[in-house]
Amino acid sequence: MKIKIEGLGVDYGAHKALDDVSFEGNPGEVISVIGPNGSGKSTLIKCIAQVHRPSRGTVCLNDRDATSMDPNEIARLIGYVPQNFHYLFFSTVMETVLLGRKPHIKWRISPHDLEVVQDALDSMNIRAYAGKFMDQLSGGEKQKVYIARALAQEPELFLFDEPTSNLDLKHQIEVLEITRKLTKSRGASMIVALHDLNLAYTYSDAVIVLNKGRIYACGKPVDVLTPATIQAVYGVEAMIVESDFGRHIVPLKVKT
Ligand code: ADP
Ligand code: MG
Repeated sequence: MKIKIEGLGVDYGAHKALDDVSFEGNPGEVISVIGPNGSGKSTLIKCIAQVHRPSRGTVCLNDRDATSMDPNEIARLIGYVPQNFHYLFFSTVMETVLLGRKPHIKWRISPHDLEVVQDALDSMNIRAYAGKFMDQLSGGEKQKVYIARALAQEPELFLFDEPTSNLDLKHQIEVLEITRKLTKSRGASMIVALHDLNLAYTYSDAVIVLNKGRIYACGKPVDVLTPATIQAVYGVEAMIVESDFGRHIVPLKVKT
C-alpha cells in the first residue's frame, strides 16, 4: 500500500503527544516505529488506523485521504492489532480469527473464508488451539490469535502495536519472520511499533525513531540505529557488534 503521512499532530490538552510527523511508505515495506515509553508510538498507529482523530495533518492511503473512507473500507484495508487488546471471554480462537473475515463476508461464510482462516491459524501455528476459548490461553497465545485475525483480514496494511510484547524469544522471531514474509508476498505494508532494537534492525526496511512525539530520525535501519541515536533518545550507551550472523546492537549502560 502507498502510505503518506503529513504533518500529523495530536494534542492532549497542552501536551503534544505527536508533533509534525511526516513519512511515506511503499507497497511491500516494513516500517518499524521505535522510541521510549510515551514517545507517541501507539498514538501514531491509532491515527493511521483511524481509531484516533489527529488534531492536525493527514493520513493518505493509496493516494486517498483516510478520513473520507467509510468504516467498512477501512476494515478491508487495515488490519490493526492494538497494544492492549480486549478479547471476548466466550469466543473460541476459531471464532475470533473468523471475525477478521467480517469485512469480506457478504451473506454467509464461504469455503474460501474458512480456508483463509485455516491458513492464518497455520501461519501462527495455532491450529491446535482453534476450539479453545480465549480465556484458556496464555498472553502470548492470545497475541498470536489477534495477529492471525489480522492475517485472515487480508488487509493492504498491517498495523501492529508491540506485537511481540508477550512472546518468548522464539515466537518473537517467528511472528516477525512470518508477518514480514506475508507483507512482501502480498505486496501489503506493515507498520510495527517495537521495543527491541535488534528485531527492528533485522526485520524492517525503514525505521522511524520517535522522541517526545517528534521524528528524531528516519531511514534505513543501518543508518538510523546508531549508538549516537540510541544515546540521544534512550539515554543509553550502546555498541554495535558485527558477527557471522550480522550486526547486533548491544546496550551497555545508562548514560549518566
Ligand atoms: P508510546 O506508545 O510510545 O508509549 P503513547 O502514544 O501511548 O506512547 O503516548 C504518548 C503520550 O501521550 C504519552 O505522554 C501519554 O501519556 C499520552 N497519552 C496517550 N493517550 C492519552 C490519552 N488518551 N489522554 C491523555 N494523554 C494521553
Ligand atoms: Mg504504546
